[in-house]
Amino acid sequence: MSAPVLARRLDLVVVGAGPAGLAAADAAAGVGRQVLVLDQAPRPGGQIWRHRPGDVLPVEARTLLDRVRPPRVAVACGASVVDAPGPGQLIVDFGGRLAAVETGAVVLATGATERLLPFPGWTLPGVVGVGGMQALLKAGLPVAGSRIVIAGSGPLPWPVAAALHHEGAVVEEILEQADALAVARFALSLIGRPATLARALRYRAATLGIPYRTGGWVVRAEGTDRVTHAVLRVGGRERRIACDWLATAAGLVPRTELAQLLGCTVHEERIVVDQRQATTVRGVWAAGECTGVAGDRAARVEGTIAGLAAMGVERIPGALFRRRDRERRFGELLAQRFAPRRELRERVTAETILCRCEDVRAGAIDPAWSARQAKLWTRVGMGACQGAVCGLACRTLYGWDTAVPRPPLGQPPLGSWARALGEATPPSATPPSPAPPIP
Ligand SMILES: Cc1cc2nc3c(=O)[nH]c(=O)nc-3n(C[C@H](O)[C@H](O)[C@H](O)COP(=O)(O)OP(=O)(O)OC[C@H]3O[C@@H](n4cnc5c(N)ncnc54)[C@H](O)[C@@H]3O)c2cc1C
Repeated sequence: MSAPVLARRLDLVVVGAGPAGLAAADAAAGVGRQVLVLDQAPRPGGQIWRHRPGDVLPVEARTLLDRVRPPRVAVACGASVVDAPGPGQLIVDFGGRLAAVETGAVVLATGATERLLPFPGWTLPGVVGVGGMQALLKAGLPVAGSRIVIAGSGPLPWPVAAALHHEGAVVEEILEQADALAVARFALSLIGRPATLARALRYRAATLGIPYRTGGWVVRAEGTDRVTHAVLRVGGRERRIACDWLATAAGLVPRTELAQLLGCTVHEERIVVDQRQATTVRGVWAAGECTGVAGDRAARVEGTIAGLAAMGVERIPGALFRRRDRERRFGELLAQRFAPRRELRERVTAETILCRCEDVRAGAIDPAWSARQAKLWTRVGMGACQGAVCGLACRTLYGWDTAVPRPPLGQPPLGSWARALGEATPPSATPPSPAPPIP
């Protein structure tokens, strides 16, 4: 399989322009290498620094974004890696035009996504992920006066509630699925992390007055054309709250599809890496939340290590490893304290839609099947999103294995995908340009 070659033998291609990818690119450029950063989002920054032109960003974001830009580093946004047909070869969808990129090394910094678990009514318009709500807000959704219930887990609901409140939304409640003891133990652990504690206190101060409850979850969303009420269970009692938006998720989970396509080992939902962030595949390193959810500080230090290691730097300062290990321990703590509770997996009824692309209901699925059997017999996960949502949900609900995705990832236009397949020639014989310019 081939496509026009955009760039031959770059030293490093970084997939993902979040904190991890930017730090990796910065480190590799710092030792004089030719680096290309690809990100499917319209602008670099990843999830935490998602922004529109003119938005004020924190200083650490501005510093990295200033360093990772042309001519020091080539950055292509709106560029989705959809396939990895051979060693050092990536097929990239540049807004509908496919091109091959050839590179000596790859750093995967593909981040995390939300774990959306089905419950009755979850497909109603107005029911979104917690990070999804934040993404809508950052894209300019007007929320002033809207009543919003946030039912999530871990630290993410806090910045989202603070931002919504700041924009004039009425945040009715922040509901944490973990119980009070787990949250208290997590809060105590922040004493040893003054910067994180300060951030947490800032968010708490910005959301004073918004009720925060632990050990609770959404039972169902009600409405006909869109959500009008959320039914919550807290402390053994059900409450029904009127709302315009229900933002809910069971935490974050690493994005590993591209790593799987490349043949990297994934264990417990994370890309497996060694001390120097190398994956199990030669020439491929990984950093940030795709290797385990631990926050932006972990992502940055892992990115730096990965960028240096991928460029063959032998003497990486020990302080970086120590900081990385400290941040990783924080990630383990997050995973323990905010693990999705059993009740979140018990909300589906036979009528609950699992796969909204193919309209497959839970009653059609036998949990004893494998993911593959379920696909063949019900088409679950075979729709437009290719299981991006329901694949993860079924994994959590039924304990199915992480299925290895098939190319193409995402939804490149079928025409250009077919053209790329039609031009099939061995990678070494791929014609040079024409190719879209790297912005
Ligand atoms: C929806 C959401 C919102 C979040 N909001 C916050 C927040 O407000 N505050 C906070 O502290 N933490 C937030 N987090 C956690 C946050 O992701 C991390 O702390 C930090 O951003 C992780 O950095 P990263 O570089 O590992 O990944 P990310 O920042 O997630 O960056 C990964 C990048 O990889 C790109 N990518 C993935 N696959 C491909 C592909 N195939 N081709 C091209 N590009 C690809 C994505 O577009 C993304 O920009 C959020 C997480 C999520 C999922």
